[in-house]
Amino acid sequence: MKCAKCGKEYPSHYYFRTESLCMECYGKMGPAEQKKAIIESLMKHPMTSTYHEMEGYRVVKHFGVVRGITVRSRSIFGRMGAELQTIIGGNIPLFSELCEKTRAEAFDMMVEHAEQIGVNAVLGIRYDATEVTDGVTEVLCYGTAVLVEPV
Ligand SMILES: [Zn+2]
Repeated sequence: MKCAKCGKEYPSHYYFRTESLCMECYGKMGPAEQKKAIIESLMKHPMTSTYHEMEGYRVVKHFGVVRGITVRSRSIFGRMGAELQTIIGGNIPLFSELCEKTRAEAFDMMVEHAEQIGVNAVLGIRYDATEVTDGVTEVLCYGTAVLVEPV
């Protein structure tokens, strides 16, 4: 999907702050502009926040927890590549890229779940990762589905 402001193409809604603005563009806006953008976006796509409150809004109703789960298994080649990168460099770009993509997928599934319920916001978003067996990781993204309205 594409950002309406900068035109940059992103693989998922994970990188967006509102319906049509990427986090980068949103961060460059002033507070008044940000609020306007959020109000425009409200009801079109659930808003998401890692906080339990959203400034300028109050929670009207709670709908419980929504979540998204992705399971990832590393291929033997991917693992070898990562091991090689570990030896050569300090950090592991192959792994961080994989984690980022997996988190984004779990996030999108959670937002979809929220859309199905018909809420307009998900608060207190958290991630959890568990290694199920060797090389197989389960990533969970969850938050509280709520209905909010502007104060
Ligand atoms: Zn942008």
